[in-house]
Amino acid sequence: MEVRVRFAPSPTGPLHIGGARSALFNYLLARKCSGKFIVRSEDTDLERSSLVSERNILEALRWLNISWDEGIEVGGDYGPYRQTERLELYREFTDKLFQSGQAYFCYCSEDELEQERQELISRGQPPRYMGKCRNLTAEERAEKEALGVKPVVRFRVPEGKQIHIKDLVRGDIIFDSDGIGDYVIVKSDGIPTYNFAVVVDDTTMKISHVVRGEEHLSNTPRQVLIYQALGLQSPHFAHISLILNTEGKKMSKRDGDTAVIDYRAKGYLPEAVVNFIVLLGWSPPGEQEFFSMTELSEIFSLERVSKSPAVFDLNKLKWINAHYLKLASRERIAELALPYLREMGVLTGELNSAQRQWLLNFVATVIDHLSCVSEVSDFVHYVHGSDVQEPDEEARQMLRGEQVPAVLNLFKQRIIETETITADSAKLIMKQITKELKVGGKLVFMPVRIALTGQMHGPELNNIIALLGKENTLKRLETGAAWLRD
Ligand code: GLU
Repeated sequence: MEVRVRFAPSPTGPLHIGGARSALFNYLLARKCSGKFIVRSEDTDLERSSLVSERNILEALRWLNISWDEGIEVGGDYGPYRQTERLELYREFTDKLFQSGQAYFCYCSEDELEQERQELISRGQPPRYMGKCRNLTAEERAEKEALGVKPVVRFRVPEGKQIHIKDLVRGDIIFDSDGIGDYVIVKSDGIPTYNFAVVVDDTTMKISHVVRGEEHLSNTPRQVLIYQALGLQSPHFAHISLILNTEGKKMSKRDGDTAVIDYRAKGYLPEAVVNFIVLLGWSPPGEQEFFSMTELSEIFSLERVSKSPAVFDLNKLKWINAHYLKLASRERIAELALPYLREMGVLTGELNSAQRQWLLNFVATVIDHLSCVSEVSDFVHYVHGSDVQEPDEEARQMLRGEQVPAVLNLFKQRIIETETITADSAKLIMKQITKELKVGGKLVFMPVRIALTGQMHGPELNNIIALLGKENTLKRLETGAAWLRD
């Protein structure tokens, strides 16, 4: 059997981490089994669905390098791939259910349904539709129609039936049909509901495995009943666990960004996000922690997907991202860093070759300190312009050392004498000062560092000097000298 899997988001908002994980697991399963991965849109919520959200979802998938073999924008033999473009097909399937007596029109008003709900609740019973319109006669129906009531279509749930689901992650689960009231499959405006449309889509698209979030587990018996009513084989199901925050609660906006595209905006690398997401519920065999998409496509399996909740730990994502940032080419990171530097006015307009080189040197200087590219902004003050951050008391104390005036003077002289300052020439200057004044390295580096940056720590000093350049280094030394006099 060919493995055909799908990702079927509702385009009612951006792609979230949970959705991205469903997409990734499906994608990897398809790659692993040489199957097909399909992306389609469940856009039947006409009010909340939008093309903007659809575009965001597709863009986020592409950014993650999750590609699809069939579906929206790509096409394929089983399209169209948006539910609102498949209404004719749902009508055909509704007719089949009508013909076999497994669907019926329901004319109950909102008020009637609410009253029924309240009655059941007050009797301590789970609220469900009790079947008022189950057996209407043709006359009764005609009466309602004459009054202009627009009916919904309900599925006639068989009584006293056990629904067995062999979930590939959660094992065997049994649901009782008696707990399920006849549910709506087509709304009064002719739009199918999720539980019906998804069955029609999955069966007509020949989906072999449905891999989706645990929140859909309770929908599964409703879908299985429809497969059975149509005399169709259900696909295999695999429900993947919820993603919780580090406090064990459901992820929410407060836990930071849930939209995938926000991670791109912050300067996370897609391969890091993929590596992070795949570990939300799937555990690799062995000790390896970092995986490329190609490796994952070879080793991913549903057997290693856990049914316990996954924990979203932002620090882990940062750690993984820091790893990939170090592996990435400097040119790539420079390209990603550029917008942040432009926004701060550090670089403007078309870059000339000197600016391009400066940017590459800057990236090389800060890369080991970054967990995401947007953090380059935090390092600008070290290397750009003539303003120095105010030193704290500990740093000021360092500047009171008796060798400091001589060190800074000599440093200034050497800088003046040097035509173009590179990291190598800065290194040489520092070495010469230590020799000439016969003081230990730290007694030279520390005051220079503090005079130039106001800080006792930061990126490699020689690089800072080179990035500042002659003019800014000299200007900053003036400020440093003023602190000596304080
Ligand atoms: N549209 C559903 C969602 O976004 C997908 C459900 C499914 O995969 O069956 O959660």
